[in-house]
Amino acid sequence: MSNNNLIDEEVDDLEIVCTLCTEKIINAKFARCDSCGKSNHYNCAKITPTEQRSLELRSNRRLKFFCNDCTNGMSALPQILSTISVLQDEIKLLRQSISECKHRDTTSVDQQPQDFDIEQVIEEIADRQMKRRNIIFHGVIESEKLNVAERQAEDVQNVTKTLSLFNDNCPNIIMTARLGKKNSNKPRPLRVVLDDPRTVTSILKRKNLYKGPIGFSSDKTLQQRKHMLSLKNELERLNSIEGGQQKTIKYIKGCPKIVDIDLSKSLNSKNPSTSPTKSGSTTKM
Ligand SMILES: [Zn+2]
Ligand SMILES: [Zn+2]
Repeated sequence: MSNNNLIDEEVDDLEIVCTLCTEKIINAKFARCDSCGKSNHYNCAKITPTEQRSLELRSNRRLKFFCNDCTNGMSALPQILSTISVLQDEIKLLRQSISECKHRDTTSVDQQPQDFDIEQVIEEIADRQMKRRNIIFHGVIESEKLNVAERQAEDVQNVTKTLSLFNDNCPNIIMTARLGKKNSNKPRPLRVVLDDPRTVTSILKRKNLYKGPIGFSSDKTLQQRKHMLSLKNELERLNSIEGGQQKTIKYIKGCPKIVDIDLSKSLNSKNPSTSPTKSGSTTKM
């Protein structure tokens, strides 16, 4: 008897179907899988007469019948078991790192007031504000005079002379100071305080016009110097990457930033501001 038009899903719960030939088991001997409970004709499962007798024992049945699916599954069992133990180990590690992350999160929130000291920030801002009036001169010969005032007067004279070479207006020098311990080998850097930070900016902008032995730089706080150092290291790293676009450090709104060399050129040229055009703002019924 054939039931070719019978589809699995339509099988009545009461009907037993052989999973090998997919036909209903009617008046035929069959074995039920001891693992999943699915049934197979004796013939389909190629169960020998001896096996059949053992399977049909009502009590003390030693022989077990496993269908093809279950037999295949059982042969894969050792591999499945070892995969499970690997997965269990991985889950353990993941749980560990998740709890570490959570721990780190909560501790970092707790530590925030210490890491982010508002007093330090205010101090840094004040320090930067003060240093905006300063220029550091390098290579200005130190006076041999014993009197401090006379030495300072000589420094002021040297600085004024140097600045007059490329700067039309003579800036108002408030004070000068040598930085660091006296060293016989080379002159110490000279901090020059001007009355107006704008003068400092204009002098530093024009410093390329000066072709002498003296160097100029802005007066930076420790934080700024640390930041600049890390930027320079990063710049070196980026520029050493082959095929990458060459980069440089550019001050944008007073902050040093790493930019592409082409981009830094385009930042110098003034872009005509594009006026926003209104379109589609009117609606017609
Ligand atoms: Zn069958
Ligand atoms: Zn089975």
